[in-house]
Amino acid sequence: MEAETIQLTPVSTSSQLPDFATTLKQHQQTLRRNVALDILQVNVGKLCNLACHHCHVDAGPKRTEIMSWATMQHLLRLLDATEPSPHTVDITGGAPELNPYFRDFVSACRERGIHVIDRCNLTVLFEDNQQDTAQFLAQNNVEIVASLPCYSLENVDKQRGIGTFDKSIRALQQLNALGYGQPDSGLVLNLVYNPLGAHLPPAQQQLEADYKQQLQQNFDIVFNHLLTITNMPIKRFAHQLDNDNALESYMQLLLDNFNPGAAENIMCRNLVSIGWDGAIYDCDFNQMLEIPLNDNKRNISELSSLQQLCETPIATDLHCYGCTAGSGSSCSGALA
Ligand code: SF4
Ligand code: SF4
Repeated sequence: MEAETIQLTPVSTSSQLPDFATTLKQHQQTLRRNVALDILQVNVGKLCNLACHHCHVDAGPKRTEIMSWATMQHLLRLLDATEPSPHTVDITGGAPELNPYFRDFVSACRERGIHVIDRCNLTVLFEDNQQDTAQFLAQNNVEIVASLPCYSLENVDKQRGIGTFDKSIRALQQLNALGYGQPDSGLVLNLVYNPLGAHLPPAQQQLEADYKQQLQQNFDIVFNHLLTITNMPIKRFAHQLDNDNALESYMQLLLDNFNPGAAENIMCRNLVSIGWDGAIYDCDFNQMLEIPLNDNKRNISELSSLQQLCETPIATDLHCYGCTAGSGSSCSGALA
């Protein structure tokens, strides 16, 4: 069953945490985007075949928000009009593959020579009308970033729903058979780990070695890299923390582990995130909290080029401490 949709930001904690922007200033760091965008992150909708406990998108099978083809076409025009153009389009959801225009959008990006990432939950590959999605992704040399929060059945099914682990393993074997994750194939398969509870991820490199050993030994699965991601104190995870009376202690954990080295590399400096309706955000997390840009441009319909978003200020709040704790966290894994 889909979880209740509750927006709960860490601002609702009673302890007085220092403002994130002030903390960054104390470390001589600015909150402005870089002079060029590397990545355009596009959330093509909230529809998903799963409804995971930690999901910061509140995605699920009943969600109806889907990016239209007209919005995708406008994004393609903006990519054409931007010099230098972002080198990567990072497609998220929900389950992006369930958007009826997903393949058209991927193909159009690839025709332009843009690297495409599909954030795939793996189980979607077994949904109706998705039987040839893996082949489509391979033919278009799309990088797959797939969530697998653990290499054990018990932990994955606990977080993502019963039966998810078995399906994920079968999907990974199918992707390996197509060449994904195999040496020299050029087909990149990265996995994503996020903690099961209110703690920081372990060291990325060591955990990657454990994942590789376990998945190879037990299921003959190979992959390229493991990306560790910190659970952000927003949406379903914040709601769960609040229920457990653990929101304040989790925020304090993030603050106590503030890492200036990670703060130097926060992902909002080199990307923007686009919502299903064309709204522009500093990152996927701000999108889910509906924190608008610190700029007068709010929707791609107001833009003639993505260059207009460069060097603009970044809007932050206390959830940003999730990006700078420990080794740091981003859609590309650890930062420091
Ligand atoms: S698969 Fe991803 S988008 Fe779908 S519910 Fe789970 S975390 Fe959310
Ligand atoms: S949550 Fe978003 S805006 Fe805040 S630091 Fe992380 S990437 Fe930047």
